[in-house]
Amino acid sequence: MVLINLLIVNILTIIVNDESLSMGFLNKVTERRDSWSEHAMKNTVKKRIENVVIIGASHAAAEAISTLRKSGWEGSIALVGDEKNLPYQRPPLSKAYYKGELGVEKLAIKNPQFYLKAKVDLFIGRRVESINRQEKYVTLDDGKNIDYSHLIIATGTRARYLSVEGGDLHSIKYLRTMADVDDIKKALKSSAKLLIVGAGYIGLEVAASATKQGLNVTVLEAMDRVLARVTSPVVSSFYQNMHAQAGVEIRLNTALEKFAEIDGKYFAVLANGEKLEFDCAIVGIGVIPNTELADDAGLLCDNGIVVDEFTRTADPFIYAVGDCSNHPNFIYHRRIRLESVPNAVAQAKTAAKAICGKDVVYKQLPWFWSDQYDVKLQTAGLLAGYDDYKVEGDVKGAKFSVRYFKHGKLIALDALNSPAEFIKAKKLIMLEASE
Ligand SMILES: Cc1cc2nc3c(=O)[nH]c(=O)nc-3n(C[C@H](O)[C@H](O)[C@H](O)COP(=O)(O)OP(=O)(O)OC[C@H]3O[C@@H](n4cnc5c(N)ncnc54)[C@H](O)[C@@H]3O)c2cc1C
Repeated sequence: MVLINLLIVNILTIIVNDESLSMGFLNKVTERRDSWSEHAMKNTVKKRIENVVIIGASHAAAEAISTLRKSGWEGSIALVGDEKNLPYQRPPLSKAYYKGELGVEKLAIKNPQFYLKAKVDLFIGRRVESINRQEKYVTLDDGKNIDYSHLIIATGTRARYLSVEGGDLHSIKYLRTMADVDDIKKALKSSAKLLIVGAGYIGLEVAASATKQGLNVTVLEAMDRVLARVTSPVVSSFYQNMHAQAGVEIRLNTALEKFAEIDGKYFAVLANGEKLEFDCAIVGIGVIPNTELADDAGLLCDNGIVVDEFTRTADPFIYAVGDCSNHPNFIYHRRIRLESVPNAVAQAKTAAKAICGKDVVYKQLPWFWSDQYDVKLQTAGLLAGYDDYKVEGDVKGAKFSVRYFKHGKLIALDALNSPAEFIKAKKLIMLEASE
């Protein structure tokens, strides 16, 4: 992959959980924009450049480039990404790519020719260090400045670090990037005992994949059930049973105190003093949005970069999309930050269209999926705040759905191996929201 990227670098004309904030924030965005507009407009006149700079070679970036060109953007486009790859799909990292069922080439969201055809100036392996909003340029880690007329921040998130004693031992891993998985796979070659900290989507997907590979897997979870942040007790209990049957040991209500290396062996030391030996540990305890660039540039950030319904920040020339954006949701009537590919893609489309002068309100129903063993979970909507639920189908046969209601209205659904139910619910929730 590095080789492919280097090749492209030579060929192309390379210049090288939902946090509720009140909807009042939307007004703040607009108020701040007014004072900025006047100043920024002067700069546009001064520079007269038409260049969209996208920060983060992400899911959102690939979609933004595609939509910009389809919507008639004739200016230049620059993409800056601090990983060593062109935009690639992250979901398979804990699934097919981890298991070796999907190669590097298949991870790519678009092939290299796409960027060539779209005339994208690629700055891959480069990091944006700062944004100068007055002069409208970004500065890269090699000191280079790139002027922009419009900026899209698609910096995503990074893994939350487990800050305990021994947390920096080299057998403790995190999983966010392709490089992380390659490193984990290397470490697992000589491992028998895998410890996973955190029973969220990523922890459990890795547990399922690793068990199939014959590893001895233990999952530590501080809460009293798995997937507690994303689903209901009935679905959590289904997953707990499924993992137990596959031989995964799940320890709930378990607090990890520290990691220790004793005589060349690694141990997780629990709050009750118990020591669990492991060869390799993967920590999956959530993510942190990469908002520092925006924050340093004076943009409003609050669990994500605060944007309006067109994904615009307070600065009319700067957009923030994907996992790093805190945006208004018109179905649930609150602000949210989502960690999902469909959201990143839909927001990127919204931003690109807005840049091309076609303001279209972002109105997407949040949805997610997770693959563990032979079970596909598809979630339509956000279930937070549900007051009633109904289970339908065959729970033992792993083909069922759970509908979540609030005041008698369907607000979300978990579909397990039930794609038709998922599609129906998506439509219904959208329909009810528009009534
Ligand atoms: C293992 C795993 C499994 C997942 N499974 C699913 C799933 O099944 N379904 C689902 O919907 N979602 C899943 N997700 C979440 C999904 O991958 C994210 O929602 C999605 O990647 C968000 O895309 P994005 O465009 O916001 O940014 P990202 O894909 O996070 O990309 C942001 C990029 O910006 C780069 N960057 C950050 N700062 C800078 C800077 N200053 N300069 C240059 N570059 C910078 C980052 O290094 C990164 O490459 C999974 C994630 C992981 C890690």
